[in-house]
Amino acid sequence: MLVNNLYRIQYHGKRQVYNISISIRNNEIECDCSCSSRKPCRHIHSILIGRNDKLKTQDTALQNELIQELGNFPQGLDVLQRSKIYFQIDSTCRRCNSRNIVDTKSQGIKAKLYKLISTHRYYCRDCRWSW
Ligand SMILES: [Zn+2]
Ligand SMILES: [Zn+2]
Repeated sequence: MLVNNLYRIQYHGKRQVYNISISIRNNEIECDCSCSSRKPCRHIHSILIGRNDKLKTQDTALQNELIQELGNFPQGLDVLQRSKIYFQIDSTCRRCNSRNIVDTKSQGIKAKLYKLISTHRYYCRDCRWSW
């Protein structure tokens, strides 16, 4: 599969708007951001893990498309995985290895409910352990 796409997304930080561009050309991925941090910076990583609270609505559609597209080929999956590691997002329970976990930092209704009853970030619905 060959895709040629350039995504331009604006990240609205507290003091500044950062211009992020992510290009996918022949399965090669290039990321850039107008901030001065080493690339890929946390703005790029946060977009790649699906955080959208710093984006304008029209850019979240682009973000979804970008993540979906990266999920279609190995190099893209690798980039997505690295962003998850950057924020240390767990996808399995640290005790029983189940994937049936709730991340209270995610957006869904379940996450919000668990946040009310737990001070931990994650909750495993199989072994009922939180960490
Ligand atoms: Zn940046
Ligand atoms: Zn568990």
